[in-house]
Amino acid sequence: MSNVLLTLNAGSSNLKFSVYELPDLIPAEHGKIEFDREHHNPLEKSLEDLITHIEENHGHRTIKMIGHRLVHGGEEFVQPIRLDDAITDKLRELIPLAPLHLPAELSAVEFIAGHYSDIPQVACFDTAFHATQSPLYKLFALPRSLAREGVLRYGFHGLSYHYISTVIEQHVLAEHREKLVVAHLGNGASMCAMKGGKSVTTTMGFTALDGLMMGTRCGELDAGVVLYLAQAKQLDISQIETLLYKQSGLLGVSEISSDVRELEASNDERAKEALELFCFRAAQKLAGLIPALNGIDGIIFTGGIGENSALVRAKIIENLQWLGAAIDTDKNQLNQTQIHAASSQLGIYVIPTNEEWMLAKQTLTTIGEQF
Ligand code: ADP
Repeated sequence: MSNVLLTLNAGSSNLKFSVYELPDLIPAEHGKIEFDREHHNPLEKSLEDLITHIEENHGHRTIKMIGHRLVHGGEEFVQPIRLDDAITDKLRELIPLAPLHLPAELSAVEFIAGHYSDIPQVACFDTAFHATQSPLYKLFALPRSLAREGVLRYGFHGLSYHYISTVIEQHVLAEHREKLVVAHLGNGASMCAMKGGKSVTTTMGFTALDGLMMGTRCGELDAGVVLYLAQAKQLDISQIETLLYKQSGLLGVSEISSDVRELEASNDERAKEALELFCFRAAQKLAGLIPALNGIDGIIFTGGIGENSALVRAKIIENLQWLGAAIDTDKNQLNQTQIHAASSQLGIYVIPTNEEWMLAKQTLTTIGEQF
């Protein structure tokens, strides 16, 4: 018999979960469930099966609390919060800010509130870590009336950045800690400029489409291209959305794959060009963050690509030689924590992120240990 904490990350077609034993947050199980699309309530059915599996298949575990990753907290939700009906209603008002993700995430919250009302639930927001940014860096150069209604640069990957900020002291040399750029490079990718462990600015803006080139997303784009797609090519909004979110990035440019492993293994010129562009754009966006830090002491790579692709790290740093950045080839190949060359003027690090653990930690802190 053990007490556990469950973390949930509900996507549009899958549900990622992790189970941690309380009170020490010992990882017990994690996985991803693809929805059964045949079922009329696929997410709800998956949740029910998951909770039954956790509580019954492993010697009577009791789920004491559930932490949800919510992609958007808007301007108001800048801390993890215990959920109740009133807060869930307020969060529903944020759906226009994240229509692709929030509906499924909130459906999971509501299903659990309805069927397992004795389990306390906490929402942890991917935007919250960026609440420390100055109002100036949140503005788009658009009419101010839009900013007043919430069209602002929010930034995402907050759980990942928050986790990294908690392990900087453990892994990063004192002289590299103050002005850091953290590069979270996964299927989704962004960078965060951190000063003293706090977010100063980030490459993602109003949605998770902005900034770096990604697996299937375009990243920063001349808004005129969107007008061209609509006016000259007569694409409708959902076609444009699919093109920008699912058919662009590494996949769109290579016409082969969104997966860096496959592109690295390919001899096709398009695969090489897609990787070159990814790394050039990453260096370019990294350089764009430096004015907000007024300098840079170090770079931390994280996320599936950042943690594993020596080639991508080396190419990004190659584009930053002018900054005095230099990589130690052997250490880089081995994915070591410190990969800067002795001659490098900035520290370069590889630190695995752990968004699930951060979610669990925030949930436990919010509910408290008196469960
Ligand atoms: P998500 O953003 O979905 O959480 P991850 O952070 O897990 O994704 O990153 C997934 C990506 O990491 C894969 O698509 C792949 O491109 C890359 N990746 C994972 N392992 C390796 C590896 N050994 N070498 C190069 N790239 C890798």
